[in-house]
Amino acid sequence: MELQDQVAIVTGGARGIGRAIAIELAAAGAKVVVNYRSSAKEAEELVAQIGGVAVCADVSTTEGCQAVIDAAEAIGPLQILVNNAGITADGLLIGMSDEDFDQVMAVNAGGCFRMMRAASQLMIRRRSGSIINLTSISGLRGNSGQVNYSASKAAIVGMTRSLAKEIGRRKVRVNAVAPGFVETDMTKKLPQQVLDGAKAMIPMRRIGQPADIAPTVRFLAGPGSEYITGQVIVVDGGMSC
Ligand code: NAP
Repeated sequence: MELQDQVAIVTGGARGIGRAIAIELAAAGAKVVVNYRSSAKEAEELVAQIGGVAVCADVSTTEGCQAVIDAAEAIGPLQILVNNAGITADGLLIGMSDEDFDQVMAVNAGGCFRMMRAASQLMIRRRSGSIINLTSISGLRGNSGQVNYSASKAAIVGMTRSLAKEIGRRKVRVNAVAPGFVETDMTKKLPQQVLDGAKAMIPMRRIGQPADIAPTVRFLAGPGSEYITGQVIVVDGGMSC
């Protein structure tokens, strides 16, 4: 198996896309650290199924990120970091509170920044590692009602490309995956009208599933992508083409 015994972190790995990624990496042989913030039951059930460990931590804090890194290093040298944890607090800009902007930036962009800072130190020293960040087509194209979310996801694209340039020569790769609409708790919050509208704009005429996203993350983590860094791979059923 291509990721045999490699240690991987998936932030927000207990539900949705993160859960599918954790399952996919474990199926490829990785030992997965499943980070969660509130989904303790789901996280424990998942590690009972796929192995690895579950770690409760808030990635918007430096201490939380360090706790996740420490849990990984306790089972072996960290090789793969998937920054998947994310939140939304949608609304039109004119009514958007400071708190809704700051919180979305703190979890989505801040969490990615803090996790990458802690993980890359170890990976640089070892001259090996792959970091995969979950951005969104909202971060590439913008989306009405998501000024805060799309700003956080655009920040992730900028960080991905910048860090790839900083540490490529140390043999550490940094890439991003940009899903379109995927059926998870995050999108269940959207009105049916918005989901129907999105579906009509998708050439493949269906909303994505978490399992549609995970294989791209596995590819970017593994040996088949060794000459790919600083890239954003869009997985959206053709929505943005
Ligand atoms: P989801 O079902 O709402 O799950 C979000 C995950 O993030 C949960 O596992 C949650 O953990 C975790 N999380 C939130 N805040 C956290 C924090 N402070 N610390 C640690 N974990 C935290 O979302 P999803 O749809 O699977 O989205 C996963 C990623 O894909 C996100 O980055 C999202 O922006 C991105 N994405 C999603 C879509 C889509 O259509 N669904 C499209 C493009 C991009 P707990 O449950 O433990 O709180």
